[in-house]
Amino acid sequence: MAPPAAGRPSASAAPEPPLREAAKRRRAPACAGAGARILSLGVRGAVMVAALVLFLLFAAAAVILMLALLVAARGFRQQGRRRHRASPDSSTPPPPPAVGLPSAKIRLLPSFVPCPCDGGGDGSSSSPRICPVCLDAARAGERWRALPACGHAFHAACVDRWLLLSPGCPVCRATVSVPVS
Ligand SMILES: [Zn+2]
Ligand SMILES: [Zn+2]
Repeated sequence: MAPPAAGRPSASAAPEPPLREAAKRRRAPACAGAGARILSLGVRGAVMVAALVLFLLFAAAAVILMLALLVAARGFRQQGRRRHRASPDSSTPPPPPAVGLPSAKIRLLPSFVPCPCDGGGDGSSSSPRICPVCLDAARAGERWRALPACGHAFHAACVDRWLLLSPGCPVCRATVSVPVS
C-alpha cells in the first residue's frame, strides 16, 4: 500500500499554486489506491470463488464415486443372487471351482495292479506298499496309479480324488503331466 502513504504528504502540501496538479496528484494516488483495493477485493473474491468451485467439484466427485460404488455393490449382490438362483438345488452348496485336473485327463494317467508279493515296488519286499493319501497298505486286486512326473504311487481312487482338486503330486507337489498317447 505504498501509493496512499506517498499521496498523503502531497495532500498536506496542497495549498501550493498549481492546484490542478496537486489535485491530480491527490486524486491519482487515491484512485490508484481504490483501484488496488478493488483489485485486491476482486482477487480475493476470485480466489474464494475458485476455492468454492474446487470444493464443489471435489464434493461432486466424492458423491459420484460413492454412487458408483453403491451401484457396483448392488450389481455384485444381484449377480450373487442370480448365481444362487441359477444353482439347481439351493440346499446343496455349489461345487467347488475345478482347479485340479479334469477327470478325463486323470483317467489317462498310467495305472497298475500291484502284485501281492511286490512290497515296496522296487524289489525289496520287506515293507508293504503304503498309499500316502489314506496310509493304507496295498491289497491284492487294488488298482494303483503312479504319477509320471515323480513316480509316486497311490491308490487310483485316492489320487484321482486328490487330482480333481489339485494338479500336483500329494507327496512332492510335482505338477502332474498327463502323458500324450
Ligand atoms: Zn489310498
Ligand atoms: Zn511326487
